[in-house]
Amino acid sequence: MSEVYPYLGALLALGAMAVTWAARLAHAPRHQAPNVAKFTAPEPGTRWLACHTTRCAHMTTRHRPAADGTWTCTGCGTTTGGEA
Ligand SMILES: [Zn+2]
Repeated sequence: MSEVYPYLGALLALGAMAVTWAARLAHAPRHQAPNVAKFTAPEPGTRWLACHTTRCAHMTTRHRPAADGTWTCTGCGTTTGGEA
């Protein structure tokens, strides 16, 4: 009978591994799809204007209205006349 003890020990270890694996699987966070776009509401009053600085690379970025009627780029902070 004593010759089966090592096999019983191995079976016990495998059983413990299976239980911990199942527990880890149950507590694993749900997988989320990568590269999911996050939508946010634009700030009220902003305009999409072309910004011709090197940082913004002539891309159209959001501009906040300034008090003097100009527009401030949210990407680089450059003020433009807003006629673009
Ligand atoms: Zn800019």
